[in-house]
Amino acid sequence: MLAGIALVAVAEPPAPLPSEIVSSEWCETIGNRLFSVSAEFCEESGLRPSSATSIEGRALMRFERPPQLPRRSASIDGASRSPRIMMIGGIHGDELTSVSIVFKWMERLNRADASQLHWLIIPLANPDGLLMRPAQRMNARGVDLNRNFDTPDWSDKAMRYWVGRTRKDPRRFPGRVPVSEPETRWLQEEITKFRPDVIVSIHAPYGVLDFDGPAEEPKRFGRLRLNRLGVYPGSLGNYGGVHKGVPVITIELPHATRMPSARDQEAIWQDMIKWIRQNFVPANLT
Ligand SMILES: [Zn+2]
Repeated sequence: MLAGIALVAVAEPPAPLPSEIVSSEWCETIGNRLFSVSAEFCEESGLRPSSATSIEGRALMRFERPPQLPRRSASIDGASRSPRIMMIGGIHGDELTSVSIVFKWMERLNRADASQLHWLIIPLANPDGLLMRPAQRMNARGVDLNRNFDTPDWSDKAMRYWVGRTRKDPRRFPGRVPVSEPETRWLQEEITKFRPDVIVSIHAPYGVLDFDGPAEEPKRFGRLRLNRLGVYPGSLGNYGGVHKGVPVITIELPHATRMPSARDQEAIWQDMIKWIRQNFVPANLT
């Protein structure tokens, strides 16, 4: 309310400058919530606040890491363009492992097989949902962000699906209009600006892989096998994979609150990198 009054009094308030790096307060909050995430690593991770914030005003964090190419291939433009990989965790706030595992995988980006890729990493797309007690799937306004993307079938189907198929399950409310939520709007903007070749979206607890869009589908990452879950109006898989033509891999971890073993985390990561390299890395970079 106060913000509204201030906006009337001052025609164009200067936009707050985003701070350069992730705040220790943000990292402490996340570290306290997630057993597997250390505040120290979070602070040193290179995460930076975007200009967008969640409904409750929390910074939406991103980390971009350009490819570390050997000098000879870096000089060949165009043909050696490194694949751009966008990884998103925590769209659903109650899937805690989907955030923690992204932090774990960020520790592997400097390995030789991952360092040639151009990464955009968003470990926590729905901070408000994660930080509620108890954590909730939806954002602070009760919208399922993974049903709020601006897919061509949204107006026709999203509300009908929610009423008819989910019987108005509040956990799957798609919003009143597509892309009504700041978190979804921000994710769509990041996709438009970054132009990923692949989007990797992490969820739990179905213990499978799902895939939408062009490209050779992966059969398994670690113990997770491909099992298509279907296409939903307003989902990221539908938006990216079907509408924008960007392959979307959905990794459904087996538990929402219990992390896969270190060995399973590694197996999923290795198979994922192998699949990305086989399908998206140009021959002159391999
Ligand atoms: Zn989910």
